[in-house]
Amino acid sequence: MTRYWKPLALALALSATAPAWAADCAVEIEGNDAMQFNKQAISVPASCKQFTVKLKHVGKLPKAAMGHNWVLTKTADMQGAVTDGIAAGAAKDYVKAGDARVLAHTKLIGGGETDSVSFATSALKAGESYSYFCSFPGHAGIMKGTLTLAK
Ligand code: ZN
Repeated sequence: MTRYWKPLALALALSATAPAWAADCAVEIEGNDAMQFNKQAISVPASCKQFTVKLKHVGKLPKAAMGHNWVLTKTADMQGAVTDGIAAGAAKDYVKAGDARVLAHTKLIGGGETDSVSFATSALKAGESYSYFCSFPGHAGIMKGTLTLAK
């Protein structure tokens, strides 16, 4: 009995640790048909080399009517990126091609769809104010939140 117990205990300890660690470096955020994100703030642990944001559209409306994406910029760059994103149009997922202000973004999705984006946390500075938003026309005023690099 003892021969089997120790490896099992070790395996349980490892499996209990791994998902918790991975969860710290990833977050899931939902967008709905009422033009809302379910999170107003995201904290990125500085210990993560990469951070993943999974966007889930929990509504039913198609992306042409109620499309959502997740776009990250410095807060100071947000309005400019929103304006240029709308000009870029639906074919570009409302993100200007090659926009250096956009630090990360998912594609535009409709109801029932998901997309995720991973980015290197080396792109973030502690103390800087970052904002995320949906760049679908008219959504960024409500669908937005703040992102910070935690210690
Ligand atoms: Zn949206």
